[in-house]
Amino acid sequence: MQERTVDVAIVGGGVMGLSLAYHLLALGLAESVAVFEQDPMHLHSSTGLSAGGVRDLFSTAVNIALAHYSIRFFEEFSARTATGAGAGPEINFRRSGYLFLMNQENEAAFLRRADFQERHGVSLERLDASEVRRRYPEIRTDDLTGAIFGRSDGFLDPYQVMQGLQQKAAALGALFIPERATAIHAADGRASRVDSANWRLTARRAVVDAAGAWGGEVARLAGVEVPVTPVVRQVYVCRAPQDVFQSYPFVGAPSGLYFHPEPGGQLLVGRAFADDAAAFSWDWDRDRFAELLWPELAQRVPLLERMRLAGGWAGLVENTPDLSGVIGEHPDLPGFYLITGFSGLGLMLAPGAGLALAEIIGHGRPESIDVTGLRLERFAEGSGTWEEKTM
Ligand SMILES: Cc1cc2nc3c(=O)[nH]c(=O)nc-3n(C[C@H](O)[C@H](O)[C@H](O)COP(=O)(O)OP(=O)(O)OC[C@H]3O[C@@H](n4cnc5c(N)ncnc54)[C@H](O)[C@@H]3O)c2cc1C
Repeated sequence: MQERTVDVAIVGGGVMGLSLAYHLLALGLAESVAVFEQDPMHLHSSTGLSAGGVRDLFSTAVNIALAHYSIRFFEEFSARTATGAGAGPEINFRRSGYLFLMNQENEAAFLRRADFQERHGVSLERLDASEVRRRYPEIRTDDLTGAIFGRSDGFLDPYQVMQGLQQKAAALGALFIPERATAIHAADGRASRVDSANWRLTARRAVVDAAGAWGGEVARLAGVEVPVTPVVRQVYVCRAPQDVFQSYPFVGAPSGLYFHPEPGGQLLVGRAFADDAAAFSWDWDRDRFAELLWPELAQRVPLLERMRLAGGWAGLVENTPDLSGVIGEHPDLPGFYLITGFSGLGLMLAPGAGLALAEIIGHGRPESIDVTGLRLERFAEGSGTWEEKTM
């Protein structure tokens, strides 16, 4: 059994845990940090299975602020994660934009949100249906009233983001433990120790739940509750009949169906359904594509009737009751901090979330981004920050 004492012990080495480790060490807010990760190849972690989408078209001020910091961070990624061995990895951030299609039913909500977003510094365009048709003639627009186009948005490589953050955090002294945390102990009413098969790690200042979809399970190791539900999300990779879609942005239809180009001439297609299973399952459901997605896709973009399904996968999103993340100290256990529950939006918010929690742990409060609205207490207080569903 190995024993060590560190300032901060983080359970979960996905993008949230890595961003936190990076910010704690890069900003000098902790001297020593350890990260437990049960799945170091990230075969099941949500970050490894994410689609790599990044946007600032959010409906709450806090998520817009987190996204703005995160987008700047991604722009500067290889410089920020440079080590003695050279520049950090290239994350291939492609600013193709996000296009949300509007019809009579959702238009009022989108336009109201667009006003709010512009007041918070989001760069967007309101397109009428004829402009959508002019720019994207392959999309059927006869039932549409227009679209909102997010100019700052795009796609990047989630694996390279994890690589860069982990390499930089390791260069700054982080200890990575490729094991499952099996127990979290408190001493004098404070979370203070994390155990795994071969480690006993004492944490002087903080134990952190950065376990994504496992956020509820890890909280239970510490004897407290966090309302995070794992929900299975299916995505499908298709070969389009023409290259025209390679210059397309992310396209979100009013129903929630979406598609976007992937490198190599492919399209990624998906949609969240109300009956998506709440389970720890990674079973890919090929039939769902033919039954539920293809008919609608072919109707929205007739050219895509001739596309071919090439593959796909399933991963977990980590939903909270109001579909926003949780950042802060657990009210029932001092010293136990949360950065989890980002409800399918975590990759794009991780740099900002890691900065905010690093400041809370280091200074006692978030100094750069006001994330008090994301405290766990909001659920008991009924002051949820409800992130409106755009897809
Ligand atoms: C199909 C799909 C598409 C997505 N697309 C996007 C997108 O386009 N843009 C976007 O922003 N987000 C997207 N998401 C959501 C995004 O992937 C997540 O919000 C984000 O990755 C969450 O990061 P995390 O670090 O909290 O969780 P994870 O990446 O899951 O990391 C948590 C880690 O904790 C580890 N862990 C759990 N319990 C323990 C334990 N006891 N001991 C040690 N380790 C433990 C797990 O192994 C895991 O690696 C998508 C998700 C899916 C499934």
